Amino acid sequence: MPRVKIIHTGGTLGMVRRDGNWRPESDLLAGLLETLPELKDPELPEWDLVEFRELLDSSNVGPSEWERIAGAVLAWYDDFDGFVVIHGTDTMAYTASALSFMLEGLQKPVILTGAQLPLVHPRTDARENLTTSLLLAGTSDIPEVCIYFNGRLLRGNRATKTDTSSYIAFDSPNLRDLGDVGVVINLHREMLCGPDDRGTGGLHVATLGRSVVGAFRLFPGVQAKTLRSLLAPPLQGLVLECFGTGNAPNKDPELLAAIREATDRGVVVVVVSQCSRGAVDLGQYEVGASLALAGVTTGFDMTAECALAKLSYLLEREGLNVTDVRRLMCTPLRGELSLPGAS
Ligand code: ASP
Repeated sequence: MPRVKIIHTGGTLGMVRRDGNWRPESDLLAGLLETLPELKDPELPEWDLVEFRELLDSSNVGPSEWERIAGAVLAWYDDFDGFVVIHGTDTMAYTASALSFMLEGLQKPVILTGAQLPLVHPRTDARENLTTSLLLAGTSDIPEVCIYFNGRLLRGNRATKTDTSSYIAFDSPNLRDLGDVGVVINLHREMLCGPDDRGTGGLHVATLGRSVVGAFRLFPGVQAKTLRSLLAPPLQGLVLECFGTGNAPNKDPELLAAIREATDRGVVVVVVSQCSRGAVDLGQYEVGASLALAGVTTGFDMTAECALAKLSYLLEREGLNVTDVRRLMCTPLRGELSLPGAS
């Protein structure tokens, strides 16, 4: 009988309304899950729930919680066939991206899920999300961190939250779903990460979140002094969300000089696109080429959430210099980016 460990971190799925707002409620979920007949179905794996001592709205989830989730996966890795992480939807894509890099050598499914309406709500989406996540975690042998939400199984580091209120809360704009989840679950096995992406030699948890990184969305009229102050020490890496294919104004020499000074000092500036679909190509326009000359690194079709997580991960790896970090940012490590020309 497959066994799944459920790690409950918080989020809407287990919230209740207090004083007019939804908020997490400790020690509630285990009892609620016991009342759901579908979770006792013999087709479902056996499951066991562990809960963060303080449940969190995912706005409060960051590197120390990523470490706790990854630590929990490591602690129970040999005893369970897969893991379901119940998490708020707001920052789920950041957590999924971070875990995809932190869990080096992962060979078992880690499925993040949540809900747009809590389990206690009559129109909740929590029941289906949780039931299918349990099934996927227990029986699919996907060696990856995924998000399962509303009938879609997405690679975690390709997903982004696109809707605040629809049940279809997530999209994977640059990679098709890892499987079709309907009446029948049909995984696209050829898409799953291969042994090279997963690493070898058992599970190891890497640190992530100790480096000083940031993200900045470029806007028309941005001033050089704004970027210069952001890029000042102790910043080590910046995800720069640029226009279209990776474009930025090139009529203000001070703006490009601010970026050049930072990259010369060793700051890793990674360009991603403000468009959710498509990739960065710094060679397409003169404005993009000017940015390339300022020493930036292309993030291809990575989401901003993933680029930020990957940047932290690489900056914290021992033995990598800035040139290595820049090179690896453009190299797929966990299926997080598609190189031009690759299908
Ligand atoms: N604010 C909630 C959270 O991210 C939203 C959700 O779970 O859907 O924790």
